[in-house]
Amino acid sequence: MKTLLNILIIAAIATTSAFADAKVKAGPRKGLILDLGGKQAEFFVEKDRTISIAVYDAAMKAQAASTEVITAIAEAPSGKAKLEFEKKGDLLVSTTKLPEGEGYQVVVQAKSTPDAKTKNFRIKLQLYTCKGCGNAEYACTCDE
Ligand SMILES: [Zn+2]
Repeated sequence: MKTLLNILIIAAIATTSAFADAKVKAGPRKGLILDLGGKQAEFFVEKDRTISIAVYDAAMKAQAASTEVITAIAEAPSGKAKLEFEKKGDLLVSTTKLPEGEGYQVVVQAKSTPDAKTKNFRIKLQLYTCKGCGNAEYACTCDE
């Protein structure tokens, strides 16, 4: 039994490392982790359909949002909507809500400092809870 368990663990480690680059990472708030290069931002859709972003350092230690510049473009069927963010406590929170519906793309443009290169993240807005990992589907960490 112990041998079998060891084999399973080795198999799990091998699988994890093989897909390390493509693997979706979720944060402590069950949001989607966006790698800003040296910093990580956690994209999370609140119940009121605003987006909140939490910031972590490379080791996933929580930090107050400071120099990050974030905008999001919701490519909703009703038309594109640009969401701006403002600081609320330690988080960056969108000043407007996501348009009605889901299944559309949200493009998050993020940089860790105003001088950094902008990184684009395309997120498919699927808000239902995944039964496998318990995250919202946009932050699902299950293997396909
Ligand atoms: Zn899942």
